[in-house]
Amino acid sequence: MTISLDTSLDTGRAESLRGLCGGNVHLPGDAGYDAARTPWNVAVRQQPAAVAIPRDASDVSAVVRAAAAAGLRVAPQSTGHNAGPLAARGLDDVVIVRTSALSDVRVDTARGVVRVGGGTLWEPAVDAAAAGGQAVLHGSSPDVGIAGYSLGGGMGWYARKLGLAANSLTAVELVIGDGTLVRADASTNPELFWALRGGGGNFGVVTALELRMFPIETAYAGLLVWDQAHAEKVLRTWSQWATGAPDEVTTSLRLMNLPPVPELPDGFRGRSLVVMDGAVLDSDERAGDILAELRALSPEIDTFARVPAKSLVRLHMDPEGSTPVVSDSAMLAGFPDAAIEAFLEAAGPGSGTSLLIAELRQLGGALGRPHRGGGVLSHLEGSFAMFAAAIAATPETAAQGRTDARRLARALAPFSNGRSYLNFAERETDPRTAYAEDRWTQLKGIRCAVDEHGIFLANHAIPRLYENGRQTD
Ligand SMILES: Cc1cc2nc3c(=O)[nH]c(=O)nc-3n(C[C@H](O)[C@H](O)[C@H](O)COP(=O)(O)OP(=O)(O)OC[C@H]3O[C@@H](n4cnc5c(N)ncnc54)[C@H](O)[C@@H]3O)c2cc1C
Repeated sequence: MTISLDTSLDTGRAESLRGLCGGNVHLPGDAGYDAARTPWNVAVRQQPAAVAIPRDASDVSAVVRAAAAAGLRVAPQSTGHNAGPLAARGLDDVVIVRTSALSDVRVDTARGVVRVGGGTLWEPAVDAAAAGGQAVLHGSSPDVGIAGYSLGGGMGWYARKLGLAANSLTAVELVIGDGTLVRADASTNPELFWALRGGGGNFGVVTALELRMFPIETAYAGLLVWDQAHAEKVLRTWSQWATGAPDEVTTSLRLMNLPPVPELPDGFRGRSLVVMDGAVLDSDERAGDILAELRALSPEIDTFARVPAKSLVRLHMDPEGSTPVVSDSAMLAGFPDAAIEAFLEAAGPGSGTSLLIAELRQLGGALGRPHRGGGVLSHLEGSFAMFAAAIAATPETAAQGRTDARRLARALAPFSNGRSYLNFAERETDPRTAYAEDRWTQLKGIRCAVDEHGIFLANHAIPRLYENGRQTD
């Protein structure tokens, strides 16, 4: 995808940032600007006033102070997996702080935590924990950033047993609105720590996080695959099974329409499939019992077996590296017969959909229960999270994919619980819908306390309690 530069951008205010971060600040027209501003999701066009790539927390402080002095705002971004809602706002008064160089990973065995830099991707942390027989609560992709994922909640293959990744954060360090570096944990700045665990990138630029490790060396994991001709039967059985399954198992079910590309293995290439994947945290025998009802549907591929826990980071076969994606999502209260029909009509065989995936993630278990001592988002309400995505290689395929993803979300609207899961919300979404009513005012108050002048801009922006002397909604 080619990205053309709009030379009408006013770069004047950002000139004062030049020379910061050891020279790693890129303004429109600079040779490094295009590479620096391009997010993981290359279907999103970001055109900020500057991109700064700090080497350490003191670089971050310097950028925040300089941006504030220049009347610019600061948008923290690790990878740009969820850049859509940020770019939609327009970024010509914004400095993107790309945290990719803050990527240290240190295991602290005595404390049972991994300490990672604020731009670290999941895979290095998974590998570091696995070297000591431990696991961290990563998601389905090896190259999603730990910060964005965990600050937004984070549900992976251990989620129905161990809950959201946000609950596994034991400390967060961040540069707040006045440029100071602060630590937030259960005893230091506990209100801020509460807000960070689910409140996203609204409170500052996160420079480091500490994550709890869990003693998991292996899991019984894999995928079951059917031709989409069996979609109705599989969807019906899986959705009923999923709502009654024990906490030890976490799965996802996708209708996939795979392109005829040579990179895909035989059995997948160019086919429309139903793919159910997941992990069981129990013995082989118990896992066999849990999965028996699904195996009875005679999948043509069954890879479920005992595997090293660290291999789960690639179980879902998520695309790695820059990818153009358009998507939509919904949180579903339940999945009755009428929802199955609506799902299949919008995205199943014969629907003519352009979606690469129409996915349902199984919720419930520990994911559905408030976590004692957790943050603003310690659990998710609902039975299933729906995520629909298409590859947006051209403007035409992007438009068609958006339409088809929206069509599926609309078809499932009668079964929605009215909530959003902001990690899956890749278009502009009212962030209030992610939180229980009483928590919104608290979040806005904490934002006000750490970012009095509204320097920070998150992809899903929580306003300050008071803006221009007025209380916001
Ligand atoms: C292929 C793919 C697979 C996914 N799998 C899962 C999954 O299994 N489970 C799940 O729950 N979600 C999943 N997601 C969603 C993912 O959690 C969100 O896209 C998340 O926001 C990505 O975080 P990031 O830091 O990589 O992205 P970014 O776009 O860089 O960040 C998103 C937002 O997070 C905040 N942020 C990021 N870094 C920082 C920082 N250092 N300091 C402060 N704020 C920061 C900012 O507000 C930023 O706008 C997936 C997404 C994709 C595209």
